[in-house]
Amino acid sequence: NKQTSSNFIKNIIIDDLKTEKHKEIITRFPPEPNGYLHIGHAKSICLNFGLADEFGGKTNLRFDDTNPVKEDIEYVESIKEDVKWLGFEWDNLYFASDYFEEMYKRAVLLIKKGKAFVCDLSAEEMREYRGTLTEPGKESPYRNRSVEENFDLFERMRKGEFKDGEKVLRAKIDMGSPNLNMRDPIIYRIAHATHHNTGDAWCIYPMYDFAHSLEDAIEGVTHSICTLEFEDHRPMYDWVVRECEMEHVPRQIEFARLDMTNTVMSKRKLKQLVDENYVDGWDDPRMPTVSGLRRRGFTPEAIRDFAREIGVAKNNSTVDSQMLDHFIREDLKLKTRRTMGVLNPLKVVITNYPEDQVEMLDAENNSENSEMGSRQIPFSREIYIEQEDFMENPPKKYFRLFPGNEVRLKHAYFIKCNEVIKDEDGNVVEIHCTYDPETKSGTGFTGRKVKGTLHWVDAKNGIPAEFRLYEPLILDEDQEEGKTFLDCVNPNSLEIVQGFIEPNMKDSKPQEKFQFFRHGYFNVDPKHSTEEKIVFNRIVSLKSSFKM
Ligand code: ATP
Ligand code: MG
Ligand code: MG
Repeated sequence: NKQTSSNFIKNIIIDDLKTEKHKEIITRFPPEPNGYLHIGHAKSICLNFGLADEFGGKTNLRFDDTNPVKEDIEYVESIKEDVKWLGFEWDNLYFASDYFEEMYKRAVLLIKKGKAFVCDLSAEEMREYRGTLTEPGKESPYRNRSVEENFDLFERMRKGEFKDGEKVLRAKIDMGSPNLNMRDPIIYRIAHATHHNTGDAWCIYPMYDFAHSLEDAIEGVTHSICTLEFEDHRPMYDWVVRECEMEHVPRQIEFARLDMTNTVMSKRKLKQLVDENYVDGWDDPRMPTVSGLRRRGFTPEAIRDFAREIGVAKNNSTVDSQMLDHFIREDLKLKTRRTMGVLNPLKVVITNYPEDQVEMLDAENNSENSEMGSRQIPFSREIYIEQEDFMENPPKKYFRLFPGNEVRLKHAYFIKCNEVIKDEDGNVVEIHCTYDPETKSGTGFTGRKVKGTLHWVDAKNGIPAEFRLYEPLILDEDQEEGKTFLDCVNPNSLEIVQGFIEPNMKDSKPQEKFQFFRHGYFNVDPKHSTEEKIVFNRIVSLKSSFKM
């Protein structure tokens, strides 16, 4: 494992180990199972697991499942799969819902200490009483209930005697605090809903600020890393740990969340794209989800390298999505076979090539990595080239095929265009060429030079394939006031093209990756590929103007 680069969180850890504040660090990745993980979560995973790995500590995968309504076991399973796929192993797997009894006891302790009270204000009233940033809040008329009354009401909340929203348990802190999160925040609410883990055992559920700090304290988490929005929640986090008299004191540390161009990074929005059929599921190759990136063809290595490069900062910023593309190109460059696929085919007949002859040509698999060896590709009288590689009336500096011009066929021969065959409507349907046997690739022919090299696939032996080409899902340039992200969904984010590939690719497995000459890196789609037709997702094109 490569080390993470130096950053402020790492420095805190180094210090805590040096001063022996902790003998061992414990981090956690705490997803709420209400959706699939996205690349932002991947950053958090790499950070939490990466730090523990580097300092010989432990990382818990903890499902922060304190909201029964939005959570589902499907999400639990997908999250586990994604964390493993990214290359990490958790030391412990926990569910926050397993601590409900412990959390209840701590709430009771707060009541007994006079630090929590049952409040009957409606949600709307509570908002009014809360005040604003410039205006202090007002105390609830229920704030001075006796310990006995609070205890009795809280027990009855648990027993199910009240309806949703009728009562809440609130921390008794300070309605005059400049920090809104400290103005008697709610710590328990009533929700008569079935929970994916605890079923109908509970009808009261702890709120995030109360639950999360207790979860960290119960597990002995030393460094609880979260995103910057929670900075203002830290006083409450510390208050809960202290007032609930937790033995272990975890420390919350905030860092900048990942934001990226041309995408949305929120489970709620991603769920909307799925539910409203803008995409074909959470793992649609256009989605910034871990499962979508996997299906697109990104590798765990590329995602980890990306996470390391963007690092951890104290200020929010937006990362160019081309940076992620850069890392997948780097990872695949020497690992993938460079092969030929023709998108939008045009037939070429080589009129002086023997009618029933098929010869096998040797083709190196990766010109930058000789260890990848070579393969055999068939060549015969009829081949396919790309439609865009032929022009009847080319502009200047067009070096591909046109009447009278000679080009090189990659790994094969020079061919020269002699005749253009058209259908009734004048569309070019076939090109007739002659080849020169002297020019065979690998023979060292130097007699004359040509400027264009075309890729091709043998027409008789090539196998049909589908290519899915992607553009960004969200058009940032379309964003303006009053528009929602759904208004910025790119209507042209998917283009489906038919073509042919080399016959040696017949047994390609789902998730196998290739570089197609000139078109870029592709992944065999695990969902749409069939016995009859392999479907490829373009991961990225070959080049970009992006500079690191
Ligand atoms: P979303 O807002 O997308 O729904 P979330 O923060 O609600 O995400 P959680 O399941 O609560 O999702 O998050 C699990 C962990 O992942 C948290 O520790 C959170 O800080 C972290 N995380 C979520 N989004 C990002 C992001 N964009 N960049 C970095 N870390 C993130
Ligand atoms: Mg959340
Ligand atoms: Mg969130």
